[in-house]
Amino acid sequence: MLSRSEIADNLHLVQSRIADAAVRVGRNPDDVALVTVTKTRGLEEIEAVIEAGATDLGENYVQEMVAKAEQMPGAPVTWHAIGHLQSKKARQVAPVVSVLHSVDSLKLALEMDKRAEAAGREVLALIQVNVAGEETKFGVDEAGLFDLAPQLVELDNARLAGLMTMPPYADDADASRPHFARLRLLREELIERGISAHRLGHLSMGMTSDYEVAVEEGATLVRVGTAIFGPRD
Ligand SMILES: *Cc1c(COP(=O)(O)O)cnc(C)c1O
Repeated sequence: MLSRSEIADNLHLVQSRIADAAVRVGRNPDDVALVTVTKTRGLEEIEAVIEAGATDLGENYVQEMVAKAEQMPGAPVTWHAIGHLQSKKARQVAPVVSVLHSVDSLKLALEMDKRAEAAGREVLALIQVNVAGEETKFGVDEAGLFDLAPQLVELDNARLAGLMTMPPYADDADASRPHFARLRLLREELIERGISAHRLGHLSMGMTSDYEVAVEEGATLVRVGTAIFGPRD
């Protein structure tokens, strides 16, 4: 485990690299938020990163997110669910989650809408798009996106707010660029098809290996874990 000051330094380095990448392409750095991915990390590491200024935390697994949120009541953070979510788990995450990055079916969206309403909350919903068509990845394909997005616009409590993708793993960050550019184009195509731009404000893309490229290609949310906390066990 890294020390508190190493974690703080890493967070600040990632933040400044995000800002530099934004400026390189003429974007406002304030338009990009860092989601600090805390999956598998302990409370000490999470407290360190919050103290250093992290405000948005991402978790993959329902139990882990709910348990951590319960252990840190009143912490000044927003929880992001970034992993595949079974619709039957929506009830557990609805009271905690603010942004669900992995909507991949109408069933999940409807269930989250119902559970968020019951919890008196609004959850931002991003549609996960499998842009590379990988069989091992979750997410809808492009045809599925054009089918799903207009249906999600109707929901008020699971509120459509954008798109998310995870390109194929590659050592070279530039290999991700066409996939990120594709997600941005899909957003534009949805707008051309009549979905209002403010319901598609977010592009969640980029991880430790490629977040700077993602920012250059228009990411508004990047999801970074390893660059901040070191390798996972
Ligand atoms: C684990 C994970 C991340 C963060 O990955 P790092 O390589 O540790 O930055 C981002 N997004 C998703 C969906 C993840 O599962």
